Amino acid sequence: MDRSFTLTRAAGLARLATVTPRLGRTYAAERNGDPGSDAETSTTALSPYLRRRLITEAEVVTAARETHGGAAEKFVSEVFWRTYFKGYLETHPTTWTDYLRLVAEGEARLAANSGLRRTYENAIEGRTGIEGFDDWARELVEVGWLHNHTRMWFASIWIFTLRLPWELGAAFFLRHLLDGDPASNTLSWRWVAGLHTRGKHYLARAENIRRYTDGRYDPDGLDEQAKPLTEDDVARLEPLPSPDPTPAGKVALLLHLDDLHPESLPLERATVIRVGGLVAHVPGADERVRAADIVAMEDALARASTHFGCPSEMISPGWSDSLPVISAWAPVGPSAEALPTGVLRVRRAWDEAAWPHATRGFFKLRSAIPEILRTVGRQGD
Ligand SMILES: Cc1cc2nc3c(=O)[nH]c(=O)nc-3n(C[C@H](O)[C@H](O)[C@H](O)COP(=O)(O)OP(=O)(O)OC[C@H]3O[C@@H](n4cnc5c(N)ncnc54)[C@H](O)[C@@H]3O)c2cc1C
Repeated sequence: MDRSFTLTRAAGLARLATVTPRLGRTYAAERNGDPGSDAETSTTALSPYLRRRLITEAEVVTAARETHGGAAEKFVSEVFWRTYFKGYLETHPTTWTDYLRLVAEGEARLAANSGLRRTYENAIEGRTGIEGFDDWARELVEVGWLHNHTRMWFASIWIFTLRLPWELGAAFFLRHLLDGDPASNTLSWRWVAGLHTRGKHYLARAENIRRYTDGRYDPDGLDEQAKPLTEDDVARLEPLPSPDPTPAGKVALLLHLDDLHPESLPLERATVIRVGGLVAHVPGADERVRAADIVAMEDALARASTHFGCPSEMISPGWSDSLPVISAWAPVGPSAEALPTGVLRVRRAWDEAAWPHATRGFFKLRSAIPEILRTVGRQGD
């Protein structure tokens, strides 16, 4: 498949149109296999678009359900994993700040401990000698995307065979993934480690890797008996912060990288007079990710200008406007940290309906999916 990922809405919609015919039984039957980066992937590779909401979760779920009916259930539930992780981080925000602290501490340990540093450098440069793992490390850096099952194997080998700190692996992913997301990435690494669902970890097994890579990889020496990681401090559940009411009348609209489909934002009686685009990359983002962020933002600003019939421009932190400024809700992460104070944050019906169910395990949210889908519009507005 073409993994060049042009991050515009038009490219996201084109990709959605290409994959929609297989979002029913084919997706459910084949999604666990990773055929390798030269072949068409068994999943959709829509994540870089969904991550920035160049296309919305509601749009891809609607396309799948309208084409496949109940046979789209597996795909729909996978999309809700993204929503679940976003909602979980909103209600457990210290998981993100603890992660940032752990990365800083981990980097200091790398500088001080040459043995640890050697293992780490061999891992990120694909020189461990572990079949599969080394190719995946290079693929991540070269392509900026990995299949879900491969992400699980990679994270598990990193934590349980190489015995490297999970947070440094998560930071390596976040630097290079074109879909790098504070919620999905941090919480997936914690899930593999056994810290998210406490005591339940994911162990990569050679037999499973052989089977789902069609025999391309048969790694030796994996620790298939390791125990889950543990931690003393557990992030506390915090109340979901409320969105702000949308003012009536003239406003400036602020776009950020967590929601680049301003056309479907629930702006009610607000009239958008100008649009600003604030780019806050994920920590450590590499050149390719930064360039993709800029392309995505420029695309959204151009669409916003046409849609609202007003000027739009990139802005820098510290920007202010004489009009009330509104933005889509920025979930926990760099956009939220960069938003100027006083910005009014509106929340899409999708998040508003789903996040209250994302406070514990995924299954609470999964059982609410039919009810959530009844309440949201086709674009999650
Ligand atoms: C260690 C690890 C790190 C990860 N880091 C990220 C990350 O930074 N950003 C990210 O978007 N996903 C992350 N994931 C989740 C998942 O691997 C990717 O969303 C998925 O591989 C994207 O490929 P796709 O678009 O082909 O998925 P599809 O299977 O086609 O699914 C469609 C969409 O549903 C969502 N989705 C599917 N599965 C998951 C899942 N398990 N968790 C969350 N959302 C899901 C994604 O938005 C995806 O684009 C991570 C998983 C692991 C195990």
